[in-house]
Amino acid sequence: MESAEIRRRWLRFFEERGHTVVPSASLIADDPTLLLVNAGMVPFKPYFLGEATPPYERAVSVQKCVRTPDIEEVGKTTRHGTFFQMCGNFSFGDYFKEGAAKLAWELLTTPQDKGGYGLEPEKLWITVYEEDDEAERIWRDVVGVPAERIQRLGKKENYWDMGVPGPCGPCSEINYDRGPEFGAEGGPAVNDERYVEIWNLVFMQYERGPGEGKDYPILGELPSKNIDTGLGLERLAMILQGVHNMYETDTLRAVIDKAGELTGVRYGAAEGSDVSLRVVADHLRTSVMLIGDGVTPGNEGRGYVLRRIMRRAIRNMRILGADKPVVGELVDTVIGTMGQQYPELITDRQRIETVALAEEAAFLKTLKAGTNILDTAVTETKAAGGAVLPGEKAFLLHDTWGFPIDLTLEMAAEQGLSVDEEGFRRLMKEQRERAKADARAKKTGHADLSSYREVADTAGTTVFTGYTDTEGEAS
Ligand code: ATP
Ligand code: MG
Ligand code: MG
Ligand code: MG
Repeated sequence: MESAEIRRRWLRFFEERGHTVVPSASLIADDPTLLLVNAGMVPFKPYFLGEATPPYERAVSVQKCVRTPDIEEVGKTTRHGTFFQMCGNFSFGDYFKEGAAKLAWELLTTPQDKGGYGLEPEKLWITVYEEDDEAERIWRDVVGVPAERIQRLGKKENYWDMGVPGPCGPCSEINYDRGPEFGAEGGPAVNDERYVEIWNLVFMQYERGPGEGKDYPILGELPSKNIDTGLGLERLAMILQGVHNMYETDTLRAVIDKAGELTGVRYGAAEGSDVSLRVVADHLRTSVMLIGDGVTPGNEGRGYVLRRIMRRAIRNMRILGADKPVVGELVDTVIGTMGQQYPELITDRQRIETVALAEEAAFLKTLKAGTNILDTAVTETKAAGGAVLPGEKAFLLHDTWGFPIDLTLEMAAEQGLSVDEEGFRRLMKEQRERAKADARAKKTGHADLSSYREVADTAGTTVFTGYTDTEGEAS
């Protein structure tokens, strides 16, 4: 089943059951605590927090998401992308645990010729929060899942909150058994590659007080209980298309193939080059989706997330052997596969290409020189018996050669060195403070500085928090 069809069925199933179809919000979160939307519930947050009244009791969406904290997993696990689509159904004071569990089960197990996804019930495993007896009872006695395929997990895995006082509650997840090819049996509690998590049901049941992490008091039951769910479209596609990982599904495989064609590397030839090809496919798609939503590469905030992802993709193409610009053709391929679900990518093709090509050109201009600087610094550090690349070198690479810190970290690690990140951050901070002082001097008429400095000043406070800030809460 094609990704576009998975999406259509999702929306149709819930629409037929009284849910209002809500289009995906932009990746640029309308939320000061988040850089990028990282879960389907984000656009509905004001309703869950009681700040606004929802105009419906039930809603359904397929939300574009970016999770940069997952970047290290990309291409290595079979199921993490920096961009993915979260299919969600939501209840605002309407159905609760039982309704959500029954709907999920029905959609997953209804045969494909009857409008469902046709998964075999015996392959589905359920996890519930360890104290949520009610959820366990519903899965077992109402839905009919055998007790041995229901497992209990602790707070870390199966308890949800927004990181601040407000709603919280237990989760219950549906996992799919991909079989012994993916490792030992024992259920999702012991093997998350074989029993891949596909759908998280969040039961917003309680009101929490202040506290660190998961350590906070429960103040009582919420007067109106809500449901927030999230199913990974790519993960379901991976199962329904019978492929080994999410990068081989229909919307990404074509990009892998194009990257292989451009570099002359065959996918499947070696694990190392396969990881690179998957990284390229994932990162190029994320870049296109971000540019499509109006992000432009830069050194701060979202722009930096995009720059980091694009440059990592471009560098992987170099590792694979590309010696010419490649981004144009890759962007075209992504638009070809994603355009069916996101037609605005097609109408906006020219602008997206222009932004992407400019970033590639800027990076290629400095990549070679920066790589030489890095290699020399690595040799010097090693010759002096050190194992840590000095912060000044990382700063120089960032400031003069446009190397995102993560790129420096990665390239240094490949040669067995770590990087003095603290020193790097200190230099970045000093630079920002200088820029601020310059801007102040400009305001008082003591110096004539370009407007470019002002941009650095106002955006400066968000530097490098990009990756951790997008972590935020998950559905
Ligand atoms: P995992 O434990 O596999 O990292 P998660 O628990 O972080 O997933 P949730 O926050 O529960 O994920 O998000 C809901 C659903 O979104 C998941 O069940 C999964 O299907 C999907 N999902 C989450 N992160 C990713 C990702 N990086 N790439 C693809 N799909 C994802
Ligand atoms: Mg995760
Ligand atoms: Mg999980
Ligand atoms: Mg989860």
